[in-house]
Amino acid sequence: MAKNHFGIHGHFYQPPREDPFSGEIPNEYGAGSYGNWTERIFQECYLPNAQTGNFQKMSFNIGPTLFAWMEKHHPETVRAISDQEKLVYQRTGISNAMAQPYYHIIMPLASERDKRTMICWGIKDYVTRFGHEPKGMWLPETAMDLASLQALQEHDIEFTILAPWQAKDPKLDITQPYRVQLPNQQEMIVFFYNSFLSGEISFNPSATENADTFVQNWLIPQINALSVDHNRFMLAASDGELYGHHQLFRERFLSYLLDGAVEKTGIQHDYPALWLRDHVVEQSTEVLENTSWSCHHGIERWRNVCGDAPSATWKKPVRDFLNALADAIDSVFENHLHNLIRDGWKLRDEYVDVLLGSTSVEELIDQHANQQLTPGQRSLVRLLLEAEHDRLCMFSSDAWFFFDLDRIELLNTLKYAAHAAGLVEQATGTNPATGIIDILAQAHSEVSSLTGDIAFLGYLKNFEMKLDQEGC
Ligand SMILES: [Zn+2]
Repeated sequence: MAKNHFGIHGHFYQPPREDPFSGEIPNEYGAGSYGNWTERIFQECYLPNAQTGNFQKMSFNIGPTLFAWMEKHHPETVRAISDQEKLVYQRTGISNAMAQPYYHIIMPLASERDKRTMICWGIKDYVTRFGHEPKGMWLPETAMDLASLQALQEHDIEFTILAPWQAKDPKLDITQPYRVQLPNQQEMIVFFYNSFLSGEISFNPSATENADTFVQNWLIPQINALSVDHNRFMLAASDGELYGHHQLFRERFLSYLLDGAVEKTGIQHDYPALWLRDHVVEQSTEVLENTSWSCHHGIERWRNVCGDAPSATWKKPVRDFLNALADAIDSVFENHLHNLIRDGWKLRDEYVDVLLGSTSVEELIDQHANQQLTPGQRSLVRLLLEAEHDRLCMFSSDAWFFFDLDRIELLNTLKYAAHAAGLVEQATGTNPATGIIDILAQAHSEVSSLTGDIAFLGYLKNFEMKLDQEGC
């Protein structure tokens, strides 16, 4: 007889809020006595979910930038989360945690090289936290094209989760995962989440007041409406911050839902990797490229105006500027490292070891050098490597999500961009932004007089003042 399975995936993530000039998070408006938003959301969501043991009940991914912040400020909670995952791993031989590209970038908008670096870094971060390789990877905003899926596959990732409207066939039976054929003739397994259940959990607080009621009035009617006779997996996916931050006390709902309410009705609690352990995926389907879970216009939200932010004309010039800046920094990186480092891009892929504290930047550079470097050469490579880091970080998707330019997320992006440009100037004497800053003059706020070029030049000035103070 066909069995019913149910699981919840939580995508836990915070953008990097550290000021690249100080390494610290400045006090943020609206965060109250917590000082900044990450701390506030930690107290309302990450901590209580860890305390209720939810990381051994749900499928989840934790963005590496959030893990890095938590490791610094609340290491005991990082331990608690990895201990909970370990219990699942020991019990089933399969992890309930998925990996994520290191920075929350829109993968279809990234170059092939950036896709690879972000996947490499994300996998390294995962292995550091959990002690084994990931099988699944969550894509930021579930934004996807075949090249992104292929890049995952080339890094031995077996599956991901997408929104149902990212399937080409709108009538697809999404109670089972599918194989998606990739351009390299390999495959990626895709789980499509149930949009009704996910939407109700995310946006209808009355659905999540009581776990038993949720099972009776939301989950079971969805199952009863099915006509398929194979084992079915109903998967709901949402931001993890929903449980406790966006909706108060929902960590308790989640805990009881996955630890009693579901199973007492005979529905089996499951998660994607465990489903794959017990089922063969035979069906194939096709996906709609350049789509996501949070923009109904594909991936326009992160590069242009769309129905989600129809007046946001600043997005295109900002995206164009950052692409041009990234290209300029990449050329400098290649040209200057060419005689000193065996493979600069491989060095960049391994820079995550410095971020994770498993090596020093000097040691890493020496391992990749093709000769004994002088202190001056080593310093040049270090500055350019740090510039590459900042320029990867500046593509975090948060900057483009909202309506206006004059918001902390976008200003942080311009700060990272200015910091990257400043590092290149410090290393080589030439600023890679010279000649392209005008693009940013077309990006203006609707709520203040701010334009992108003014913000960027201000941050560049900060960088120069900081160098002066340090006597460089
Ligand atoms: Zn949109």
